[in-house]
Amino acid sequence: KGQGKNTWAIYDPTRDGSEAMMQRLSWNRRIAEALQRDLFELHYQGVYSVADGTLSHLEVLVRMRNPVDPACLIMPGQFISIAEKSGQITEIDRWVLKRGIEILARHPSIPPLAVNISGRTFDDPSLPHFIRSQLKQYGVDPVRLIIELTETAAVSDIQDAQRFIEAIHQAGCRVCLDDFGSGFSTFGYLKYLGVEVLKIDGLFIRDLPNNRDNQVFVKAMVDVARGLKKTTVAEYVEDAATLDMIRGLGVTLAQGYYLDRPVAEHPALEAAVSSEAGH
Ligand code: C2E
Ligand code: MG
Ligand code: MG
Ligand code: MG
Repeated sequence: KGQGKNTWAIYDPTRDGSEAMMQRLSWNRRIAEALQRDLFELHYQGVYSVADGTLSHLEVLVRMRNPVDPACLIMPGQFISIAEKSGQITEIDRWVLKRGIEILARHPSIPPLAVNISGRTFDDPSLPHFIRSQLKQYGVDPVRLIIELTETAAVSDIQDAQRFIEAIHQAGCRVCLDDFGSGFSTFGYLKYLGVEVLKIDGLFIRDLPNNRDNQVFVKAMVDVARGLKKTTVAEYVEDAATLDMIRGLGVTLAQGYYLDRPVAEHPALEAAVSSEAGH
C-alpha cells in the first residue's frame, strides 16, 4: 500500500538480509515487551498562533523506554516504521489515544491534544468506534481531540482515508493532514478529504528564509488552504527568521524548537494541573 507504509527507517543498507531480519525481530520483541510492560510514554509539543503567540493545542508524541535499559528513551523514528511493518502500530496508536483521552478527562482546562494515527491504523474500520467509545467512557468533549494523519497515508488510499475522516468527524473530532506537501501529489485530492488543518511538512519550513523555492511552495500551500478555508500549521520552526517569514506568508499556526521542544511535562499542562489543584 504505497511507499509510506513500507519504508525502513533504521537499517544499514550494507547489512545482509538475515542480519537485518534478526534486527527487526529483536525490535519487534522489544516493542511487544514495551506494550506488555507499559513502557511507552507521551511527550507534548505546543502549536501556537503565529499572529499572537497564544497556544492553540499540544501535539502528543510517543516515546518508548528500552525494556533492557528503562533509563534509555527511544524516539519514534527508531520504532514506528518497524511497528507499522509488524502491525504492532495499531496497538501503540490505541494506547496513545486512550492515554491522551484519559489526560483530557483528568484535566478539563488543558488545551486540545493532537494524536498521530499511522496509515496502518486508520485502515482498521473499528478505530473510529474505539475513539468514540473512549471519549464517551471518559466523558471528554470530542472537540478537544485532533487526529493527525499523514498525507502519504491518506493519498495511498483516498477512499479509506475519506471514510476514516468522515467517521472521525461524526465522532466530533477535528482532523489534521500531517506532512502536507511531501507526497509528490497534486492538491486535487483535498476535494475528497474534508480535513480542517493542513500541517505543512517540515522539509519546506526548515531553511525557508534561505530557500526561494520553498517560499514559493509554502505560499502556494497557504493559498490553497485559504481558498478551501482550512487552517495551516508550519512544523520545524527553528528560529525567529522562519517565524517572521511564515507570518508574512500567512501561515496560521506554528510548531517547532524555536517555540518549544517536545517534553514530558509541558508548562501548559503543568499550569492547568496546578490551577485545578488550587480549586
Ligand atoms: P510528526 O507527526 O511530523 O511530528 C513532528 C516531529 O518533528 C516530532 O518528532 C518532533 O519532535 C519533531 N520536531 C518538531 N519541531 C521540530 C524542530 O523545530 N526541529 C526538528 N529538528 N524537529 C522538530 P518525533 O517526536 O521524533 O516524532 C517523529 C514522527 O513519529 C512523528 O512525526 C510521527 O509521524 C511519528 N509519531 C510520533 N508519535 C506517534 C504516535 O503516537 N503514533 C504514530 N502513529 N506516529 C507517531
Ligand atoms: Mg504529527
Ligand atoms: Mg508532521
Ligand atoms: Mg514530520
